[in-house]
Amino acid sequence: MNRFFLFLVISMSSSLFSQNDHIKTDIKLVVGIVVDQMKYEYIPRYWDKYSEGGFKRLVNGGFLAKNAHYSYYQTSTAPGHATIVTGTSPSYHRIVGNSWFDRKLDKNIYCVDDDRFNPIGTKSNIGKKSPKNLQSTTISDENRIFTNFKGKTISVSFKDRSAVLSGGHTANGVYWFHSSNEGVFVSSSYYFNKLPDWVEKFNNSRKVDEYIKTWDTLYKIKSYTESGSDLNNYEGKFLGQNASFPYDLKTLSKKENGDTDYQAITTSPFGNTFLKDFALEALKNEHLGEDKHIDFLHVNFSSPDHIGHKFGVNSKEVQDTYLRLDLDLKDLINNLDKKVGKGKYLIYLTSDHGATHVPKFLIDNKIPLKELDLRDSLRKKDWSNLIKAYSNNYVFLDKELIDKMEIDYEDAKELVKNGLKEIDGVYEVYDINDDDYMFGDGYYQSLIKNNSHPDLIGDLVVFLNPMYTARYNSMGSSHGTPAFYDTHVPIIFYGAGIKTGYSNDIINVKDIAPTIASIIGIGAPVSTTGKVISDAIK
Ligand code: ZN
Ligand code: ZN
Repeated sequence: MNRFFLFLVISMSSSLFSQNDHIKTDIKLVVGIVVDQMKYEYIPRYWDKYSEGGFKRLVNGGFLAKNAHYSYYQTSTAPGHATIVTGTSPSYHRIVGNSWFDRKLDKNIYCVDDDRFNPIGTKSNIGKKSPKNLQSTTISDENRIFTNFKGKTISVSFKDRSAVLSGGHTANGVYWFHSSNEGVFVSSSYYFNKLPDWVEKFNNSRKVDEYIKTWDTLYKIKSYTESGSDLNNYEGKFLGQNASFPYDLKTLSKKENGDTDYQAITTSPFGNTFLKDFALEALKNEHLGEDKHIDFLHVNFSSPDHIGHKFGVNSKEVQDTYLRLDLDLKDLINNLDKKVGKGKYLIYLTSDHGATHVPKFLIDNKIPLKELDLRDSLRKKDWSNLIKAYSNNYVFLDKELIDKMEIDYEDAKELVKNGLKEIDGVYEVYDINDDDYMFGDGYYQSLIKNNSHPDLIGDLVVFLNPMYTARYNSMGSSHGTPAFYDTHVPIIFYGAGIKTGYSNDIINVKDIAPTIASIIGIGAPVSTTGKVISDAIK
């Protein structure tokens, strides 16, 4: 071939290629990883002890948002997972908490309960679930629609709410772990009437029993210098044992009637390994990432949340959990390399919320935090009978009773509002009809507004002083507040289409879905209010 002609062909094809690069993608699989209760600080805190193949591979080879936050106050599991996949806030996707009071139905609603459906894969009654309360499409719904339902969505977790909400409305398979005395992955008849063969085979293999073993630290406990002492005053007991290593799960999980309590695996790092094993089975048996249509695999690790609640942010148990999770991630990524191929998959990793230190630990170390038992304080007030429900910081007045007592509604509201304001630790009480609230653009107002769906708002909103915690005498860590420690989570993008780097900017978790949509060239979910993180995209 003539040299000039060859040059022309190469330059033409490369320019064509680079044009197409922005339109078409080689990505075959998107893997969404959510680590339940992962604080951002777990990345720098345990950095020196991580392997090269897990968190370090993702951070060094991907894009890390160092200051990613949620922008609403109810930092719980369900709103977190919903926000990640819908690209918007609870004010639009309607998952305002793990559960909420519904005034029209006059009862508390659990986010994914749906009596129209039946449990699949279990003898118990726990699987009546669906995503009906999620009032938005999700990123993988959009992908299903875009691919004429040829691209698949599979979602796995230990928690039903994490699996169901991440899966969206159109998932092909959604599975969560049913512990109790069964230890199996289950589903709901919303998706199908029978578990796929590969899931049944996995359950029947009783691989779960291999993880009912002794939990000791992965490395020498003396080397865990990043966390507090093994046994301390801030941890709950684990299945009756004082919180110190090792934990013989075989003995601890044995019930009096001889049954195994599979809760033991849920609250141990083996829960993560077992979920990873199951995710790899899904990858193989559902042939994810094998054809030209993009598939989605949602992997939600729930065990870190159970472990955090039990032992606390500063515990050796939490440190060991992350060092082990790091190896599970390494195995997951290595399998993606092998089965899907480098450059053909895209990963995002984030968390549904952060966590606080155990309040007593902070108090004992001179941090002027105060504990507040708000429900108990409320019970003691003579006006508390005017309150019908207190749900996700909203006060719902008992309008029927107020009518019956022939009190003016506005007067009753004023009485409760002023009474609430007098409680030590209550920072502000907002009346949702006040101009102050409606038109105020303060930080707190925005956190409340982003959490408030018009169907589910109460009469008053209570905002606590951030130096008060609505817990009393409790062990372990918790979350659910609008404080920095609960809103701050990691976001990592890794793989095809991602630019290596990091950002110090405040980035919103709801930016994940539109960013993924932009990279793979599909529409973002219907009520997306997040922004594309352009810095992360090649
Ligand atoms: Zn959670
Ligand atoms: Zn939790």
